[in-house]
Amino acid sequence: MHTFIRVLALSAAALATPALADVPKVQTDIPPVAALVMQVMGDLGTPGVLLDKGADEHDLQLRPSQMRALNDAQLLVWVGPALTPGLETARQSSPNLQSLALLDDPATLRLAYLDGGTNPHAWLDPTNASLWLNLIAQRLSALDPDHAATYAANAATAQTQIAVLDADLSRQLAGLTQSFVTYHDAYGYFTTHYRLPTAGGLAAGDAAPPGAARLSTLRAQAEKGQITCAFPEAQHDPALITNLAEGTAVFVGPPLDPVGSTLDPDRNAYDKLMTNLTQSLLTCANKP
Ligand SMILES: [Zn+2]
Repeated sequence: MHTFIRVLALSAAALATPALADVPKVQTDIPPVAALVMQVMGDLGTPGVLLDKGADEHDLQLRPSQMRALNDAQLLVWVGPALTPGLETARQSSPNLQSLALLDDPATLRLAYLDGGTNPHAWLDPTNASLWLNLIAQRLSALDPDHAATYAANAATAQTQIAVLDADLSRQLAGLTQSFVTYHDAYGYFTTHYRLPTAGGLAAGDAAPPGAARLSTLRAQAEKGQITCAFPEAQHDPALITNLAEGTAVFVGPPLDPVGSTLDPDRNAYDKLMTNLTQSLLTCANKP
C-alpha cells in the first residue's frame, strides 16, 4: 500500500513539470543546413541529416529508418521541395511534423536558373545563411520558449562568424576573373554574391545529364577559348567535364561539392563547404 502511494506521488511530480526544457527533435535535409541548425541549438541538441554522403540532393529518397526518424521529429528544417522533391512526399506523410522550408520564406533571396525556374541552391549566398539562422532560432523558440534566449544568442554568434567568413572569401575571390563551367547550374548564388564570371553549368539545375545541343554549344565555346576552366562535381561522373576540355586549353579543376555531400555533417560544415568551394575555384586563377 505504501509503495503504491509513493508511485502515485512520483507520477504526480512527473506530471507537474510537463515539457520543461523539452528541446525539439529536428531533422534537416543537407549538411550546410544541418550546420546552421547545430550552431543555433548549440549544446541543447543535435539535428539529424537526411542526405547520405555522396548522394545527389535532387534525388534524395528516404530509407525506412530515416522515415521513422522523420516521423519521430517535431521539426524539419530544409531548403524546400524545389531542392529535394523526394522529401516533400515523406514530409506530407508525417502529420505532426512542422516544416521550416527556408527557400519559401519571403525574406530569402531567390535567383532563377540560367534556363529559368527558381534555383534552390540558396545557401551558397551567405546573406541567406545569415538570415536563415534567425528563422531557425525563431522557429525553435516557438517550439521551445524556455530556451529562446539561448537560440537567439547562438544565432547572433553564428551570424558574426558568417560575416567574418564572407569578408575573407570576398577578399580571396577578388583574384578570380576567369570564366568557368561547372557540372550543374547550382552556383548562381555564389557567383552573383561574389561577382564572378561564369559560363554556366554543363547540366541544368536539377543535375539531370545534359543534352547533345548543350554539350556541343559548350564544346564550341571551349574550342574558341571562351571557357578558361571547368569543374566536375563530387557526386557526378567527371567524364562529361573531361570530354569537354579534351584537346582544348580548358583547365580541369578539382571536383566541387556545392551541397556538402562529402563533408561530415558537423557544425562547421557550412564554413567548410564555402571555404572548400573558394579554394577549388581559385585553382582556376592560379592554374599553371
Ligand atoms: Zn544541385
